[in-house]
Amino acid sequence: MHCPLCKKEFQAESSTAMPFCSDRCRSIDLGRWLDEGYSLPEMSNPEADETPEDDWAQERLKDTEEAAGEAP
Ligand SMILES: [Zn+2]
Repeated sequence: MHCPLCKKEFQAESSTAMPFCSDRCRSIDLGRWLDEGYSLPEMSNPEADETPEDDWAQERLKDTEEAAGEAP
């Protein structure tokens, strides 16, 4: 079969890094995926959205405790 990275023909049985011909080709392909992930600007947005949500949840918790205190 052919390595999807370097297009070199190799024996599937002799490879320890399927579907690549070698560990080197597998590492290079993995590195490319990681590079693409890190370059996405969206990666930092989910964390920024979490803070207001936490404050909102704590406000609700306070309201619930006050309501419970007023009960007889
Ligand atoms: Zn290869």
